[in-house]
Amino acid sequence: MIAQWYVAVAALFGAVIGSFLNVCIYRLPARESLVRPASRCLQCKTPIAWHDNVPILSYLWLRGRCRSCRVRIAWRYPLVEALNAAGYGFIVWRFGVTVAACVSCLLFSALVVVSFIDLDHMIVPDRITLPGMALGLVIGTFMLPRWWDSIAGLALGGGMLYFMAWISPYLFGKEGMGGGDIKLLAMIGAFLGWQQVLLTVIVGGIAGSVVGVALIGARVMTRGTYIPFGPFLSLGAVVAMLYGTEILSWYGSLLSERR
Ligand SMILES: [Zn+2]
Repeated sequence: MIAQWYVAVAALFGAVIGSFLNVCIYRLPARESLVRPASRCLQCKTPIAWHDNVPILSYLWLRGRCRSCRVRIAWRYPLVEALNAAGYGFIVWRFGVTVAACVSCLLFSALVVVSFIDLDHMIVPDRITLPGMALGLVIGTFMLPRWWDSIAGLALGGGMLYFMAWISPYLFGKEGMGGGDIKLLAMIGAFLGWQQVLLTVIVGGIAGSVVGVALIGARVMTRGTYIPFGPFLSLGAVVAMLYGTEILSWYGSLLSERR
């Protein structure tokens, strides 16, 4: 019973942080301050009162419109809040109230911000990945099994995508990875270590291929269209973060059975 309360409190906290993530997603690429001015309607610039700024609920209560000018509010705002709430709830359900859960929530939120900015602008912001690499190194060095896992993860994550960026013009005749993706995977590697960053690339690559083929099949896009890779790397990182240890030990047991 207690555990369920922790999950509910974590989800609630996740929704509140999710509200701040919306501010980051909107303001980071515009190079605006994250704290000033307070949230206001993008259309009529009316400041949003605290009771109209309650995560998810206010959107439902106002039926997705600004109170003063009635302009439609994008459904992505409550979506980001709900996603972050679900993420925090799931992490605490999985890891309990632990330091590992706190770090996971931090990384999860960073990945949510990166993914939506990448979808909007086709960039992965340095203002998240560079401090993220530094923080990931500090945290990873203490928390991962071996002290060098974090730095090896950073080097392997960055190195793999750097190599792919370098080789893809020769193989495919076009640019593959952006510098932002390289830094993003380096950050993920610093947090999760070298084994999990391998898993991240595999899961992200598979998810990206499946979605890419589906979108081409549905004629939503053509072969040449650029798909942002950030959201797929993020998805891979979340899978690795939550279930990486289990997946790797299952894979290891498969290998040992075949011997
Ligand atoms: Zn308005």
